[in-house]
Amino acid sequence: MKLYRIKKSKIDKKGRGLYASKNIKKGTKIIDYVGKLITKKQTEKSDKYNNKKPIYLFTINNRYDLDGDFSWNTAGLANHSCNNNCDYDGKALKVWIKAIRDIKKGEELTCDYGFGYDENYKQFPCKCGSINCCGYIIREESRWRINKKFAMGNKRNLIKNSR
Ligand SMILES: [Zn+2]
Repeated sequence: MKLYRIKKSKIDKKGRGLYASKNIKKGTKIIDYVGKLITKKQTEKSDKYNNKKPIYLFTINNRYDLDGDFSWNTAGLANHSCNNNCDYDGKALKVWIKAIRDIKKGEELTCDYGFGYDENYKQFPCKCGSINCCGYIIREESRWRINKKFAMGNKRNLIKNSR
């Protein structure tokens, strides 16, 4: 049985998301992130990735990227959340999504898209709705640049208080 199912997302109102189809233990590999391996040179030449926010592009090593922008890459449906319960993991040429905490059946599976903080961050508002949402899709380590309350130590307190 698959650990996820596809449903209309509460986060990305226009789109879909992945939801836990049963309780999932922390550390469990949930779904492979599949795509095409392309060379860095191809990435540089491609218009598809010239906005510097490559949602579907993963760095595999210093020679190859993984382009996951295909309809058959179901893992690409996972939305970003500021309080993500999953994250991307990988080894060699493979990438997958794994649970970073215990997840209850019915929860939406979310990742940290890992966007850096730059002058364009306002183009990517975050609607994850979590108590610690910083308002924009930015990797956890950089959220303090928008608001000091997102410094790493504080996030833990926020999560604790929300339970
Ligand atoms: Zn958010």
